[in-house]
Amino acid sequence: MKRVLVTGGCGFIGSNFIRLFLSKAPAAQLVNFDKLTYAGNKENLKDIEGDNRYSFIQADISDPKAAASAMQGCDLLVHFAAESHVDRSILDAADFLRTNITGTQTLLEAAHACGVKRFVHISTDEVYGSLAEGAAKEGDPMSPNSPYAASKASAEHFVRAHHVTYGLPAVIVRGTNNFGPYQFPEKFIPLMITNAMANEPLPVYGDGKYVREWIHVEDFCEAILLAAERGTIGETYNAGSGEYRENMDVIATILKMTGRPPTLVRHVTDRLGHDRRYAVNSAKLRSLGWAPKKRFDQSLEETIQWYKKSTAWWQPLKARVITSRT
Ligand code: NAD
Repeated sequence: MKRVLVTGGCGFIGSNFIRLFLSKAPAAQLVNFDKLTYAGNKENLKDIEGDNRYSFIQADISDPKAAASAMQGCDLLVHFAAESHVDRSILDAADFLRTNITGTQTLLEAAHACGVKRFVHISTDEVYGSLAEGAAKEGDPMSPNSPYAASKASAEHFVRAHHVTYGLPAVIVRGTNNFGPYQFPEKFIPLMITNAMANEPLPVYGDGKYVREWIHVEDFCEAILLAAERGTIGETYNAGSGEYRENMDVIATILKMTGRPPTLVRHVTDRLGHDRRYAVNSAKLRSLGWAPKKRFDQSLEETIQWYKKSTAWWQPLKARVITSRT
């Protein structure tokens, strides 16, 4: 029987991944290891709490004892746990270093000591930095610009170093901007949806012409599953949708779909060091058989519907939202 450890499983992508994994692996035992920071929410997995294949440990990935104990007998580790919000990293990067770098290094040491068979590290297209044109390939240089991106690039270097130095069987997956159900409402798409629903201003950084490659969380989780099963040890895989949108276009669509007026848009002082454009080339992962299934506009409509019916989930979280959008 496969024993799987997921870190950060109470967050947005981790919770979607756990739901998908359990639906596809009836014989697996899955342990969710999460500190429950402001972004961690047990409500995200309420529907599977009673599943006897699932268990939960509340702990910090930078605690070596907790990491080693959770990893005993673990076949597969999927490492999502991170401080994930760029705005917060600009205000104070200390937790980003502690969790994203030291925490990852702690897990790597425990994985090596416990003989974990596969370590799947979740990373981001933000490690490439801003691209004026084209799409980044896995071998392109990293050029992280925000403290968040710098901490994720650093974590990747430690994963690679553990693979090269100790032979740790690691695979890295770099995802583009995710959206979908259970995303904390300080992130761009749920912030705009929930503000629009509440008839509150939609704060847009600068001119709003920032381009992101939007991938639905289910497609990203499928990409991670495939990389876990068929990815080559020591390799890195980009996972992007090919659906590029300027922020202002996303906002215009959200306003249209929620029936709110364009007068709700507020241009605010730009984010410091704001990356203009991200784009990745995902041919390497696609050659293994993965392809995103969900189209952006249709999935955005579904996501809006999910937030409309899930006000009891997101309304209490709005009080925890931090932004440098002023
Ligand atoms: P999230 O902020 O929604 O969730 C993070 C989870 O990690 C939370 O449940 C939190 O409690 C947990 N956590 C934080 N610090 C911890 C610690 N020290 N010990 C144990 N648990 C801890 O993040 P997300 O958006 O789901 O992102 C998950 C991963 O995917 C991150 O590594 C992120 O860098 C990466 N990623 C995210 C996106 C995106 O668009 N959201 C895109 C590409 C990659």
